[in-house]
Amino acid sequence: MKQFILICIIGITMLILAIAIAVNASSNPFPLLGKMIIIDPGHGGKDPGAVVGDIKEKDINLAVSLILEEKLLNLGAIVYLTRSKDYDLATPGAHHRKRSDILSRVRVINNANPDLYLSIHVNAYNSNRWYGANVYFDDVNPKNELIAKTFQEGFKKDLKSPRSAMRVSHLLMQRLIKPPGVLIEVGFISNPHERNQMTKKSYQTKLANSITNSILRLNQEKSI
Ligand SMILES: [Zn+2]
Repeated sequence: MKQFILICIIGITMLILAIAIAVNASSNPFPLLGKMIIIDPGHGGKDPGAVVGDIKEKDINLAVSLILEEKLLNLGAIVYLTRSKDYDLATPGAHHRKRSDILSRVRVINNANPDLYLSIHVNAYNSNRWYGANVYFDDVNPKNELIAKTFQEGFKKDLKSPRSAMRVSHLLMQRLIKPPGVLIEVGFISNPHERNQMTKKSYQTKLANSITNSILRLNQEKSI
């Protein structure tokens, strides 16, 4: 009898605990509270990035980044953008404008030391058949591989991207940034269908949703 009562008490306690955990998880509206995330929209100003007709990479990068910023702020994150308008970060009159722009972004991100940074770009290739959001990472931070694979899995599920996360060591910016983070190429401007999609707010929102869900997953798994 005593054993039966003991088992009942343990059972009820576990049930109450499970309910408490479930209620807590579902009622937390700010799961990213206190997390600092830097979004780095590539190019800007005099540097349009990849261009096809009047569609410029810099505009797509910024549009996706601004939607993403709002979503992350709503989840409680502290969010900074390396640019929030149409300009680059090169020092005025810099001899090597591109290099100066990249080094400024590196400095901003390293000094802020965020929990995560995301560089947002658009891919271009010499065949118009390639498509799909693709994530690139440098091993400079040991967390980067898992982060890249998590985003890439999200793109596969949410956007049917056929690409795989790519390890790189030749990208100056990704090599020099110490905090965890990756480069996300949200699609191929060289693919007519994807180019058209990427100019639409609905598709930009889909991209931002996929990125947000992957951040939530990484946060939940304590990977960032
Ligand atoms: Zn780019």
